[in-house]
Amino acid sequence: MLKTSENTLDPEDWPSFRKQGHLMLDDMFNYLEQLREQPVWQGLSTEQREAIQESLLTESSDIYEAHSVFMKTILPYAVGNTHPGFMGWVHGGGTPVGMLAEMLAAGLNANVGGRDQAPIELEKQLLEWIKTLFSFPETANGLFVTGTSMANLISVLIARTARLGKVIRKEGLVNSDLKLIAYTSASAHISIAQAMDIVGLGSGALRMIPTNENYQMDVDALAQAIISDKNSGLTPFFIAATVGTVDVGAIDPLAEIADLAQLENIWFHVDGAFGALAILAPSLAPRLLGIERADSIAFDFHKWGQVPYDAGFILVRNGEHQLDTFATPAAYLSRETRGLSAGSPWPCDLGPELSRGFRALKTWFTIKVYGPEKLGQIISNTCALAQYLKQCIELNPQLELLAPVELNIVCFRYRCLNPNRINTDIVIALQESGIVAPSTITLQGQLAIRAAIVNHRTTIRDIDALIEATLAFGKVIENTMTP
Ligand SMILES: *Cc1c(COP(=O)(O)O)cnc(C)c1O
Repeated sequence: MLKTSENTLDPEDWPSFRKQGHLMLDDMFNYLEQLREQPVWQGLSTEQREAIQESLLTESSDIYEAHSVFMKTILPYAVGNTHPGFMGWVHGGGTPVGMLAEMLAAGLNANVGGRDQAPIELEKQLLEWIKTLFSFPETANGLFVTGTSMANLISVLIARTARLGKVIRKEGLVNSDLKLIAYTSASAHISIAQAMDIVGLGSGALRMIPTNENYQMDVDALAQAIISDKNSGLTPFFIAATVGTVDVGAIDPLAEIADLAQLENIWFHVDGAFGALAILAPSLAPRLLGIERADSIAFDFHKWGQVPYDAGFILVRNGEHQLDTFATPAAYLSRETRGLSAGSPWPCDLGPELSRGFRALKTWFTIKVYGPEKLGQIISNTCALAQYLKQCIELNPQLELLAPVELNIVCFRYRCLNPNRINTDIVIALQESGIVAPSTITLQGQLAIRAAIVNHRTTIRDIDALIEATLAFGKVIENTMTP
């Protein structure tokens, strides 16, 4: 029994606690080292669910026992995105370095909302690196946030303030004569519509522009929609292009959209949740041309960047607009030029949150230790694996490709009668087998098996396993269904 000291929450016996800590660290190293021998995913039994639900009902125990609950009933039953066979959604794999950095950040317990402190300097240093990465000007600003959903919301708010002026923060949209309209593609992430809803503009004020055969926004249709809205007395204010759509990984025509946004004086936002970091891969970066003209970019380090959850970022070309949108005068946040209250503006002036964790540390460790070049290689490697998977599908008459493979996402199906039902069952069987875990998506009424290859641990072996298991399950399921 490892006792807690009588008056604080620190251990009574540090040497024993230290030993326990090292054991816990080793357990996590073992977990990461032996991932491949474990199933990608396995479902919880009813008893295991109950064990988790019960664990707080008992009297306080100690760290041994809490740790053993974690090892027995939590660790083996997560989604599996650390595993090389995970291809379900665009989830990052995490890294051992990121894990250790999280431990350091937790020990430091920094509150990175404001005040004069090194963690904020580190976040600013990352901002400088990000500005250079996307060729953004000195005047740019930015902020770590939970993820791209939050970053998209922040960008809509900033674009709103930029269009209507700071006064809108006090007067509210109800007192505005202008009816603001936003545009994105039919393949855009739902968080854009949600942002319009949360901001109070309404998801109905978001035009979902049709896509072409490559799932990219149709820029002619976008131009038409803008003209038509202007003719109806509405005010187009925001265009969200996507780099790496969630369905098939398409990249919208950024340069053309940038031209149109410039001509029409509309805020040009890029949702680059996973795709923006393709800029780290020299073979992919040219496809992102035009991203450097964005007014704002939302993206995640926790997807293709492999930084542990959560680490999203919002980058804004004109940092003044960001301050105009969020800075508030509050007495307990008063600023000085010296002492702990120096260093204004603070992160809390750039977004809706005050208390916030030290997300910058795990991101900094990841970039510093692995280097941008290696991270770029990982990204291009996942795209090469997607091309390999595409070839395997095209060579096998039993399989059929359902969408172009632009980046790292491959949509295909097993050819059979009643394909939507059978392919749904194949994906469930694959997930339950623990071998590989793709997901499903419906493209133009056709149900596809969707493999999103994001994890740095995924290799050709895993792609081969996906193909083999798909064919095997396909055959079995098809046979049981045939009357
Ligand atoms: C994942 C994703 C999002 C949402 O990002 P979170 O980090 O999950 O909030 C938004 N847009 C696209 C294109 C995505 O892939």
